[in-house]
Amino acid sequence: MRFRLSPTPAQEQGLLEHCSQARYVWNLAVEQHQHWQPGRKSAPGYAEQCRQLTEARKAFPWLAAGSQTVQQQALRDFAQAMAGFFAGTHRRPTWRKAGVHEGFRIVGQRGRHWDVRHLSRKTGQVWIPKVGWVRFRWSRQLPDEAKSFRVKRDHAGRWHVAFAVIPPPINGPGTGEVVGVDRGVAVSAALSTGERLSVPGLRDTEAERLRRLQRRLARAKPGSNRRKGVKTAIARIKARETDRRKDWVEKTSTRLAAEFDVIRVENLIKNMVRSARGTLTAPGSNVRAKAGLNRSIHAAGWGHLVTRLEHKAPGRVEKINPAYTSQICHACGHCAAENRESQAVFRCRACGHVDHADVNAAKNIAAGRAVTARGALQPLGGAVNREPQPVLTSG
Ligand SMILES: [Zn+2]
Repeated sequence: MRFRLSPTPAQEQGLLEHCSQARYVWNLAVEQHQHWQPGRKSAPGYAEQCRQLTEARKAFPWLAAGSQTVQQQALRDFAQAMAGFFAGTHRRPTWRKAGVHEGFRIVGQRGRHWDVRHLSRKTGQVWIPKVGWVRFRWSRQLPDEAKSFRVKRDHAGRWHVAFAVIPPPINGPGTGEVVGVDRGVAVSAALSTGERLSVPGLRDTEAERLRRLQRRLARAKPGSNRRKGVKTAIARIKARETDRRKDWVEKTSTRLAAEFDVIRVENLIKNMVRSARGTLTAPGSNVRAKAGLNRSIHAAGWGHLVTRLEHKAPGRVEKINPAYTSQICHACGHCAAENRESQAVFRCRACGHVDHADVNAAKNIAAGRAVTARGALQPLGGAVNREPQPVLTSG
């Protein structure tokens, strides 16, 4: 739940210092872990790093003058990121750059570790350590469950405060109805009901303007004011795209949680592995650049949708192994790579069944077929342990 923050110039200075210290501490942790290899003596854990932070604060007055709360939280965030990396759900945490990663997090109980208050109906203030009360535009109701917030400066130089709020569960219809949701190739998400959902991306005029700006950026002199201006304009358009995607995730997850009792989705971990290989299901940034044509949703957006579904439909989301879901004919069970004729068309070589390719996959996910399919539905020959990917058409 994000609000626009309006710090005074003096407060902005304080916020930037928090950002650079959080980044400094984070990068220090990244550096310590970089040399670590599996099998070697373990890299310093969170407790050891906290001890080192205390030392560093003694050595550098610049760090000592900053907020210990902010710096320690950066370490905790890093520890969590490493845990995600070891669990295989996240990529290895990487170096944070000035101007790109400007943010920090405050965690704790509202009223004790941090607080918010109303100035007027539409204006609020959030208390930030060492900076004080900072104004924000209170555009929506803030639920009491908020346990933490993140302060962030976007590429366009605007400040935001985002409170982490877990939305309350939504009741299902109680009919036992099951839906399969496939992260589509031709569309953002396909439902086993046959419905195809697309993230509203940029409008054609916006995409065209983005292309023009990117060309202009390539020509602008490094360090020039002109370059800075172009970069800001690009960031604004991209922020608009992000906002639309987030909004879509909220609406879609609410709808699915209310309309179905069981929601089956592809298993994310498997997906991340696939995206690391840079396959069609998870196109890289080059593929994604085809704005207006490519409506698929990238791994982060999909992960966000699944997380929201789990919040809104706790215990009703089932993760299905996505192997072969795009190759198995939902009508007869025949499994072959050739069944997938193109990005959008599924045509079964055995029974002739024709369906939208993503919808056919969603139906397989709804049936939970892929889970039980493991040995049984392996293509003839057996030795294939990885789903062959169709060739990307450049239409
Ligand atoms: Zn068939």
